[in-house]
Amino acid sequence: MSLLWTSDALVAAMDGRPLGHMPDGITGISIDSRSLKPGEAFFAIKGEAMDGHDFATAAVKAGAGLLVVAEGKLPALGRLTAPMIVVPDVLVALEKAGIAARARAQAKIIAVTGSVGKTSTKEALRHGLSAVGKVHASAASFNNHWGVPLTLARMPEDCDYAIFEIGMNHENEIRPLVKMVRPHIAIITAIAAAHLGHFKSLDDIAKAKAEIFEGIEPHGTALINRDDARFKLLEKLAHTAGVENVVGFGEHVRAQVKLTNFVLHADHSIMTAKVMGQEVAAKIGAPGRHIVQNVLAVLGAAQLAGADVTKVALALEDLVPERGRGQRHVLRHREGPFTLIDESYNANPASMKAAMALLEATPVSGEGRRVAVLGDMLELGEHSAKLHAALAELVTEGKTNRVFLAGPEIKALAEVLPSDFHTEYRASAQDLKPVLIKAIRPGDVIMIKSSKGIGFSKLVDALLEKF
Ligand code: ATP
Ligand code: MG
Repeated sequence: MSLLWTSDALVAAMDGRPLGHMPDGITGISIDSRSLKPGEAFFAIKGEAMDGHDFATAAVKAGAGLLVVAEGKLPALGRLTAPMIVVPDVLVALEKAGIAARARAQAKIIAVTGSVGKTSTKEALRHGLSAVGKVHASAASFNNHWGVPLTLARMPEDCDYAIFEIGMNHENEIRPLVKMVRPHIAIITAIAAAHLGHFKSLDDIAKAKAEIFEGIEPHGTALINRDDARFKLLEKLAHTAGVENVVGFGEHVRAQVKLTNFVLHADHSIMTAKVMGQEVAAKIGAPGRHIVQNVLAVLGAAQLAGADVTKVALALEDLVPERGRGQRHVLRHREGPFTLIDESYNANPASMKAAMALLEATPVSGEGRRVAVLGDMLELGEHSAKLHAALAELVTEGKTNRVFLAGPEIKALAEVLPSDFHTEYRASAQDLKPVLIKAIRPGDVIMIKSSKGIGFSKLVDALLEKF
């Protein structure tokens, strides 16, 4: 196993104090003793609820090659021993390791932000670029004040492309993160009402996302959704931040990465695009119009990064939707199969719309019906009731036959749906479970969509277990 960091380089990067017999180096970096692999360094980060220092013993038992701990908090390891690097502040040390990793990297660096589609775009980029080089990318949605430095510090010296998801709940969160990442290409997927509770308006959300432009490398590019209502605002903010190149992707006539044709199928899409002059065709292994939009960003970023965009496009054929983000299951009902689409990871007005479009594009069989199982879209603040009620149009104007709702916020939708529309509302996912299980028929397509906090992933698990 090759070394990610020599101990000497890590000590120097963090300006730490080595204690004990240092190994030659470490194979990786972990902040969680449960997933730590032998030979990795364990950084004892202090979070809101937990302090990594309390898990130092568990990390050593899991095979940590090195502990990074705070001065004054050296863990008592009992009969165990482990080399340590002692630093004033472990999170700051992680940032310093990240900054050092960035300084030594030769990779093309791509950062992704936006209200929806960050992880989906990041994973599609990882997938596509893996066909043309060695890729490093954020794990899961590691996009915050510890996730971004962790991803940086984990970046191998010899990778060709590195992709960073950067997220935010408030203004001034993206700025310090992007200044560490220093991307060559910064993508904004979309501006939508997510975390609207913390903002006065969508323009304010756009301004906070636009902080990503402030870290772009000289001669770098802002790659922005051209179809977004706030494209012009974002373009202006990019120029104000000193970014020379702004490229738009989308269906818009002036998009430089322009969708020229697409056909949506239940389990894949076919598309063609003109990517800064070059014609590209792709079959995308994950369905949905929103995935097509994300792929435009992927193709644009690949082209800007100097990759062979035709090869990248070809690799997207075996892209698969992830758990909670459109993953599809064909399950067995006693009398025949039905389809479950798992969108339980997240929901806001934009991704609800995308999910409902996916439900519409999925054919039912026999007597089957399109069933939308919808839960709360969280963090919408004072706009919550209005935005939930506004889903009525999506639900009633499409081909949805039945609706199951659970959660305190989505009650606002239950209240405005016409009384003759087949609707079941329950207070919680737990209460909804038996009602839904009983209602399922062969041939149905069932879309389960909600913000994480409502526990719809358990509903998905229950169906996977039962059928
Ligand atoms: P988070 O802030 O939670 O990390 P994210 O921005 O990473 O979210 P994803 O996890 O990629 O977003 O996707 C969240 C949901 O939005 C999923 O249900 C996904 O299918 C849907 N989605 C993905 N891309 C788009 C898009 N371009 N437009 C609308 N919805 C999308
Ligand atoms: Mg994410």
